[in-house]
Amino acid sequence: MRQKEIKTINKKIENGEATVMTAEELCNLIRSGEKLTVEDIDVVTSATKALMSGTLAIFTIPIAERGAFRRAESLWLNGIPAFPGPCPNERLGLVDAILYGTEYSRTDPNYGGGHLFRNIVEKKQIEVEVKTSEGKTIITSSSLDEMDFARMLTTRSVYKNYAAFVNPKKETVKTIFSVTGLNGPYREATICGCGELNPIAKDPNLAVIGVGTKLLINGAKGYVMGRGTRSRQNNPNLMLEADMFNMNPLYMGGFKTSESPEVIVSCAIPIPIISEAILEAVTITDEDIPLPVMDINNREIITNSKYSEAWQGNDIVVKYHGNRCIKTSCEKYCEKLECPVESLCPTGAFSIEKGRIDRSLCFNCTVCVYICKQNVFTAKTGKITVNGKEVPITLRQSDRLGAKKLAIDLKKKIEKGEFLLSEPVDRINF
Ligand code: SF4
Ligand code: SF4
Repeated sequence: MRQKEIKTINKKIENGEATVMTAEELCNLIRSGEKLTVEDIDVVTSATKALMSGTLAIFTIPIAERGAFRRAESLWLNGIPAFPGPCPNERLGLVDAILYGTEYSRTDPNYGGGHLFRNIVEKKQIEVEVKTSEGKTIITSSSLDEMDFARMLTTRSVYKNYAAFVNPKKETVKTIFSVTGLNGPYREATICGCGELNPIAKDPNLAVIGVGTKLLINGAKGYVMGRGTRSRQNNPNLMLEADMFNMNPLYMGGFKTSESPEVIVSCAIPIPIISEAILEAVTITDEDIPLPVMDINNREIITNSKYSEAWQGNDIVVKYHGNRCIKTSCEKYCEKLECPVESLCPTGAFSIEKGRIDRSLCFNCTVCVYICKQNVFTAKTGKITVNGKEVPITLRQSDRLGAKKLAIDLKKKIEKGEFLLSEPVDRINF
């Protein structure tokens, strides 16, 4: 039963009187033994930053003057194939195009849609190649400022909880859930999901998140469109959309895996505290959120862990100790040395020449921690117990630091009265 209306919360937001907390702040209060009522809190900001394969974008790109070609047959943006249409845009000199985040460049298999989306939001010039129905090839360039339309859609995102993966077999498995290939038997684990910060973990029955809920995608205002693909009652996910013009590149990008490039997307959803039931739901902490552990070979659940194994008592930020690097401390030996971290870092954040991590790109995935044998990179990442064996977490495909920052951004926007809550126009059914 509702004890508070969204319009009442919005009035408080407009008057600068709303009490807003991030999911992390709330969970820390709960851990310290605090008891809260519906009157104590108006909004909890939840968020996730993770790899979201089901991401695509739609662009309208100027190509040539009107009448220069009849229609586009094929199209590449920075070498990545896109689908022209579905509207044929006959003789308009422009093209509507759909590009999948998991597609990659013809010339560089490590450059994928996620990298391109970030480059577009950074307003970089993008090379555009079009094959026309007349058989002509047009090569031009474009940037976000010249595009009339740029919108991101996610087909399945913000899972209630995702999973950890292990490999029970001896053979290493090439997979999107590993950067170097997942080693077995049970030698390492990879995890996905932001636990207690995750939006649907905070509203598992989708009681307040519905069709039309306003949210942030990569820092820009967007909306929930409805149920995501393969969404199930026990593990729902959402379909989302947002205009790309106001996105923040820090929340997005590409991520190399041992299989193909993936897409980094960040989402933050405000949870209005309108009833005891919602308050109870948002107070769930990592310690009580299940983390299913799956066999990478068949995606069957082997056991269940908890998100506290991944996120409580561990470091969410990777530290860099440049003085320990043998390349910088031993010129003679290192002249020929290639740094494996530089080539394997999934976001391209580490440069041995610059001797630093570019924090605007770093995902805190911890790949460097396990590749570099000189402890140049450190982070406590935790272990998952599978069949009585402790398996170290060697890769995080969710960036809890990034999620935390986006939840704080949303909180600030609400506190400043820049973001009002929306009443869903419909429930999401499964
Ligand atoms: S792997 Fe580590 S020690 Fe070796 S060059 Fe790279 S950062 Fe330096
Ligand atoms: S944690 Fe290390 S490997 Fe991962 S993105 Fe950052 S620098 Fe690269």
